[in-house]
Amino acid sequence: MPTPVPHIVEVAIPLPLEGNFHYLVPAHLSPLALPGTRVLVPFGRRKVTGYLLGPAAPAGGELKEVLEVLDEAPLFTAGELEFYRWIAGYYLHPLGEVIKMALPAGINVVSRYRCETAEDGTPVLREFLSGGKNVRTERFYSSLPPETGAKPRGKGVEILEFLQFLRESGEAGEDGEISGAALRARFGHCTPQLNRLVELRAVRCVEREVYRDPFRMESFGKDSVLQLNPDQAAAFSRISAALAAGVFAPFLLHGVTGSGKTEVYLQSICVALQAGRSALVLVPEIALTPQLVGRFKRRFDCGIAVLHSGLSDGERYDEWRRIRRGEAVIVIGARSALFAPLSRLGVIVVDEEHEGSYKQSEGVRYNSRDLALVRGKLEGAVVVLGSATPLVTSYYAAQQGRLGYLHLPGRVRELPMPETAMLDARGQRGKTFLPELVNAIEDNLDAGGQTLLFLNRRGFATYLVCQACGHVLRCPNCEVTLTYHRGKGRHVCHYCDYSILAPSVCPACQGSEITLLGRGTERVEDEVKELFPLARVARMDRDSTKGKGGHARVLKALEDGSIDILIGTQMIAKGHDFPGVTLVGVVSADASLNLPDFRSSERTFQLVTQVMGRAGRGDKPGRVLVQTLAPEHYALTHAVSHDYEGFYAMEIAFREDVGYPPFAHLAALTVSGIVAAQAENSAQEAASLLRKIKADCRLRVEILGPVTAPLGKVRGRFRWQILLKGRERSELHRVLFHFRSGYSHPAAVRLIVDVDPIEML
Ligand code: ADP
Ligand code: ZN
Repeated sequence: MPTPVPHIVEVAIPLPLEGNFHYLVPAHLSPLALPGTRVLVPFGRRKVTGYLLGPAAPAGGELKEVLEVLDEAPLFTAGELEFYRWIAGYYLHPLGEVIKMALPAGINVVSRYRCETAEDGTPVLREFLSGGKNVRTERFYSSLPPETGAKPRGKGVEILEFLQFLRESGEAGEDGEISGAALRARFGHCTPQLNRLVELRAVRCVEREVYRDPFRMESFGKDSVLQLNPDQAAAFSRISAALAAGVFAPFLLHGVTGSGKTEVYLQSICVALQAGRSALVLVPEIALTPQLVGRFKRRFDCGIAVLHSGLSDGERYDEWRRIRRGEAVIVIGARSALFAPLSRLGVIVVDEEHEGSYKQSEGVRYNSRDLALVRGKLEGAVVVLGSATPLVTSYYAAQQGRLGYLHLPGRVRELPMPETAMLDARGQRGKTFLPELVNAIEDNLDAGGQTLLFLNRRGFATYLVCQACGHVLRCPNCEVTLTYHRGKGRHVCHYCDYSILAPSVCPACQGSEITLLGRGTERVEDEVKELFPLARVARMDRDSTKGKGGHARVLKALEDGSIDILIGTQMIAKGHDFPGVTLVGVVSADASLNLPDFRSSERTFQLVTQVMGRAGRGDKPGRVLVQTLAPEHYALTHAVSHDYEGFYAMEIAFREDVGYPPFAHLAALTVSGIVAAQAENSAQEAASLLRKIKADCRLRVEILGPVTAPLGKVRGRFRWQILLKGRERSELHRVLFHFRSGYSHPAAVRLIVDVDPIEML
């Protein structure tokens, strides 16, 4: 018998290391060591889990052996590996870490398999670590025909009653199987009786794998397909033509809230499914879009998987397996759902494509909105980016013909856009509400309408200042002021959660002249209650909605009409549809305008437009009032006049002037350290190396900095930033690539490379 030749494989390891590693596969593992499986390998003095990428060419040098193969079947396909490689290259991140991020966390505790050799020499797979098994099973019972089984001689009526029930359900079809859970729901605790029946061979018990159901949601009967209006029909026909062609086609679907974008998604997905292909729907934050998930479930009979951050590892792993097996062909989820293992992907929808939450802010800093286009291209799928306020970079791409432009200019039901007005808050220092806003709220209350009040700041006051010595309460770890939260009686850091009890005297001079300045949602809530004592007032922000279902509760109350006035942060701006809301007041939008970030105008425009979109979605027309210290700012004037194109024209001119995207590509490097001087030195060295690479390779890349980051200290680390701007993406990447292999820094210093940063704080 010829001895199998051991083969050499390439393995990616999820550690911050450059490159992949080669290992030898011993003969007895050979049949199992397939590309896409996880392997246990020796690494230094440790054993680590790596991902087997594929065969490698023999090269010189001693190779270590793979110790175990951890999966019975590959976890990722060759096509998915190609996608992972693309991501690793683009975001300059180790492939192993990219793969680890893309696979569901629950997988890491799954059972392990070992290949053993049977007596006749054939390999057999044995499970050897079932303790960490993460697959949920359930017992299913069915009655056996009386002739096979013995007569039950058990005492009491219960056992006979059971048997009767099992037999009747057996006759009713459905394989005659009933789950233990269903029986317990009907009869209470009955495991001993069931065991007895199984013992008596009157009942058969089988154990099967089941899924946890993460999104229990009642179905309200099937939705019917709506007759599209002409704009929707035009958009739909271009999407379905692309689907019929079966090639990559990217679209920008630009339509105000209520213009019928979701209906276009639904019908497009239907076409994809009919062609035997699957669909992926990305939303910014799934907890905020239960209405959308409900609409999908009512429309489609096929398997739908819902992925979001609220799932436990086990639930996530269940959903992942359903998708992998083709049992779910529509996946709805937030950012990370982009990695859902759908096969034959036909369409990817990115709803609210302008949302910053598509960007991952730690680890692999990928952007799902951008990667949706990459995945679509690799898999020949149609990609639809939908928004009422597209990114200026997206609109620009549409104008350049790189995205197909689909426009839904008006609301479906011919609802008028809300009547809007700007309120100039200058010279009114100290007042939370201008008289016009107070009157409007009062009128709206009298008319029985609901009011949303928007303010982009949590907490009660912004900060504490001593009028005598000027001392301001600051976070010792981060370079920011602490925010007073009255509910907790504490001053809290919004970056690291550091907090102190509210002092009664100034901590610096012991004087009593301490004052709270600025205002947050908590304070606004107080003032509203004081102004309108009879109104039913609620608040929605990250503090008031902690815990599972927090959002849903507030939203439900609003829907039921048991809230008159809701105060909230941007959470209230997202795509909910509340017909009772007839007044929206923007208490302040100035905080986001003044962020030191090139996208602050764009963000403010999007935010204000979105909040405004909450008004008048029902039969009654809506009204919007925007209070601001910057009533002439183009982001606000254009938002208030519903003029996207006008805003775009100003913003794109600004971007071109200063050389920001889409006229340049950016990468931000952050160097941080506990010791101020060390962080600064490392940042200086990084900048010099970057400049040297640029000069040596003659690349047209601007290198700005290092400068202290706008948040110069966070969680005790001093932060420096270097910004790279390149007209050509390839040149920017060349600089980064050489830099990464050439830069070394002390172990205590951290380097973060953020390609296409969306925020630089
Ligand atoms: P968007 O996603 O742009 O906010 P939706 O698709 O949710 O818009 O549509 C807004 C509302 O109009 C929904 O209640 C939807 O059921 C309804 N709608 C959408 N398209 C049509 C249509 N063609 N005919 C009638 N009603 C429609
Ligand atoms: Zn802090």
